[in-house]
Amino acid sequence: MAKLPRIRTAFLKNAELREAISALQSDGGIARIAGGAVRNAILKEPIYDIDIATDVLPQDVMRLCKARGFSVHPTGIAHGTVTIAKNSHAFEVTTLRLDTETDGRHAVVTFSKDWAEDAARRDFTMNAMYCDIIGNIFDYTKGYKDCVNQRVKFVGNPDARIAEDHLRILRFFRFHARYGRGAPDAAGLKAVVRARKKLLNLSAERIRQELLKLLVAPRAVPTLKLMAKHKILPEIIEYNDVWKLMQRLPEDAILRLAVLAKLPERLQDKLKLSNVDAERIAHVLTAPNVTPELRTNERRRLLYLLGPLKWRDAVAISWAKSSASLDDRKWKSLNNLSKRWSIPKLPVNGRDLQETGLVQGKVIGQRLQDLEDWWIANDFKPDRAALLFYLKGLT
Ligand code: ATP
Ligand code: MG
Repeated sequence: MAKLPRIRTAFLKNAELREAISALQSDGGIARIAGGAVRNAILKEPIYDIDIATDVLPQDVMRLCKARGFSVHPTGIAHGTVTIAKNSHAFEVTTLRLDTETDGRHAVVTFSKDWAEDAARRDFTMNAMYCDIIGNIFDYTKGYKDCVNQRVKFVGNPDARIAEDHLRILRFFRFHARYGRGAPDAAGLKAVVRARKKLLNLSAERIRQELLKLLVAPRAVPTLKLMAKHKILPEIIEYNDVWKLMQRLPEDAILRLAVLAKLPERLQDKLKLSNVDAERIAHVLTAPNVTPELRTNERRRLLYLLGPLKWRDAVAISWAKSSASLDDRKWKSLNNLSKRWSIPKLPVNGRDLQETGLVQGKVIGQRLQDLEDWWIANDFKPDRAALLFYLKGLT
């Protein structure tokens, strides 16, 4: 192994991480930070979650960590993964392993003591590095070079690695969209294109997870375009050619998905989207057109009726469809109205109406609606007294 620089990123100073590593190593085992955290430290990208690899067996991982006051959760015990947590810091600890008996979707695992073997079962060279708690990098697949060159390369033979797990087709593009530079690795690209029909066999949940991550990556749009060109995208979604529009949308997976999908009504079922996401997509597609030309009271009326989230989605989609610059001050101000202006509450309720003795029963709802309409039409200015006075005129 060539001599590599040491990682000096602050995450290695984290007290809970240091304690976890020390606990895992207290019985003669070795524990190192693995995968994404090492890659991101090298690339100086933010580190969100830290995975630990160890030669300690899962039962012992649980015992050693419990003894140091970590809570332990056997989240993926069948694959050798235990989640440990302390002071709201959580780490996934996975025992070194080999994936045996793979069928493209599932794997049976065998635990190992060999770090190079564990690296070899990982997907891409940039994802297959480890570092110890003082930052020494362990690189068994020449991942360091690929990482700094921002090349997403399969560990080993791409065709064989894709046959083991078809999700790697999407992961290839997802990591390229986030960490890649220039054209994707030619051998990898050829292999994923050859295997594209295999995407059909994957579960909706796994596809959704990868696709949503891909959609927010910095190079999502050129990467999706490339996937369309190579006939990979239609294997997962019927899509619209809307690259320019997508490029103008914020880095938000659901917004981008809403415009990308040709048959948005089928998306929820196809990708097993949550109800919240599916409803948001439906709203994005029927959002009113809002523009900086709207007068103040008209803006407020819409914001009141839509609520802040739908308002911002409506602004985002209208802005993307317009020809305005994405730095445009007026559009920014339109978007920020949801932060500047706090949505008022109608100053009267059903009980207030009942107490006037003017209305009763079913009529109350209707009158409340009338009052709200009048209040909105008057730019939310009428107060309680004014509203009750207006009510008299209605009855
Ligand atoms: P992110 O920051 O997006 O979470 P990550 O590298 O942590 O990136 P994960 O999907 O969380 O990505 O996976 C963690 C690590 O596990 C990867 O870096 C890789 O080494 C390994 N891994 C995950 N999924 C696979 C897979 N399908 N095939 C092979 N290795 C995988
Ligand atoms: Mg991760």
